[in-house]
Amino acid sequence: MEYFSTRNSNLNKNFRDIVMEGLSIDGGLYMPREWPKVTLHSLKNLQYDEVAFEVIHPYCNESISEESLRSIIKNTYKSFHHLKTAPLTSLEGNKLILELFYGPTFAFKDYALQFLGNLFEHFLKNEKKQISIIGATSGDTGSAAIDACKFKKNINLFMLFPHNKISEVQRKQMTTVIDKNIHCIAVEGNFDDCQKIIKNLFADKDLRKQTNLAAVNSINWARIIAQTVYYYWAALQLTKDFSKLNFIVPSGNFGNIYAANVAKKMGLNIDKLFIATNSNDILHRTISKGDMSIQKVKKTYSPSMDIQISSNFERQLFESMDYDSEKLSNLMDEFLNKGSYGLSREIIKKLKNLYISNVVSDQDILKNIKYYYNKYKYLADPHTATGLSLLKKIKDTSVPHISLACAHPSKFSSAIKKAIGKEPQYPDSLKNIFEKKEKFTILKNDIKKIKSYILKSI
Ligand SMILES: *Cc1c(COP(=O)(O)O)cnc(C)c1O
Repeated sequence: MEYFSTRNSNLNKNFRDIVMEGLSIDGGLYMPREWPKVTLHSLKNLQYDEVAFEVIHPYCNESISEESLRSIIKNTYKSFHHLKTAPLTSLEGNKLILELFYGPTFAFKDYALQFLGNLFEHFLKNEKKQISIIGATSGDTGSAAIDACKFKKNINLFMLFPHNKISEVQRKQMTTVIDKNIHCIAVEGNFDDCQKIIKNLFADKDLRKQTNLAAVNSINWARIIAQTVYYYWAALQLTKDFSKLNFIVPSGNFGNIYAANVAKKMGLNIDKLFIATNSNDILHRTISKGDMSIQKVKKTYSPSMDIQISSNFERQLFESMDYDSEKLSNLMDEFLNKGSYGLSREIIKKLKNLYISNVVSDQDILKNIKYYYNKYKYLADPHTATGLSLLKKIKDTSVPHISLACAHPSKFSSAIKKAIGKEPQYPDSLKNIFEKKEKFTILKNDIKKIKSYILKSI
């Protein structure tokens, strides 16, 4: 499999290189040149690990041996604390939930980041090289990446998060990991500021000369493909065959839903993909009327979706522009310089063929947490609740509608308490986090300060 960049379709890179680099030097995101086909039928009766192998293998067959890939996958999911890894449960008939919070840090990010951490380790093992991973988190990526990289010898990890804008549990899950290679940086800004700094650091040739930079954000293709796995896995858990199925995905950076689109391209019989956003609704405005204008990031009960620039949306745009990297580069330049862009009718039409989007307000989030708790005894976290708000309105129950449960509710206990009047139960490993000591550095929203901090620390 060869890879090119959304901003340069002449590139020809292999899986190892694009995983280690994360983001292309031209500022674009890596994309595979082809969409391998994997049928649901060929996966019948396989376990999660085996399904993961079949889905991921065609993307990396030149870079990793079959045997190594199988063992990486096995190691990755062995510590997940559910027999089915990502169980599908029915609320009522064809209204279902795919639960994705059985990894070590209790959000779906673990499914991809634990895999990515093991891939890094595999590639570095023979190369006697050190890498510096830099990432930005709106909450869950950070802890999942830290857990995936802690105590790995050749990896330094720098994680930027918006100061005072993530939940307390989310922060403590990062800052209480005491390993000298892990650096948590609270940036005085919002998530988009953090993400912008990361993008600029990647474009900084001087920094790239001084250290091997690697990315863990969902721009890394290995994350997308690891997430594609559980869309197949969800379909395999249905009790009978359906000619089509729909997914509802709470969305922020567009990684999770793009992974669903990849599954569809690979042949999974997905009909509609529903995007749920919180009141940071740029994805909804873009898809419903082509209005890609950046507004101020609002703080909501679903912080991991508090995003205005959805990085992975660039992949979708590239696809909808027939992989024309020149046109896409011009579009992205204008969008980032002016802070807005109006999509053509033709592109809007293409997007609408793939996605249905909806906005869910904070008030609706709380209302839905309460509704599902009372009606089904199902306690959803605030991100999951955005999806459930759409699920509630589905009328056609002949088609399975699978809504993704993105995180364990106890990561967002204050919102849960507001919704149902009491705190959720904490899993054992989260209970003692409040007593542990924290370690993090607060820095200005200033790329120079952050760059020098990184260089000083490696
Ligand atoms: C990351 C995250 C999201 C958003 O997913 P994207 O892939 O960024 O669209 C939603 N909910 C939770 C709990 C998350 O951690």
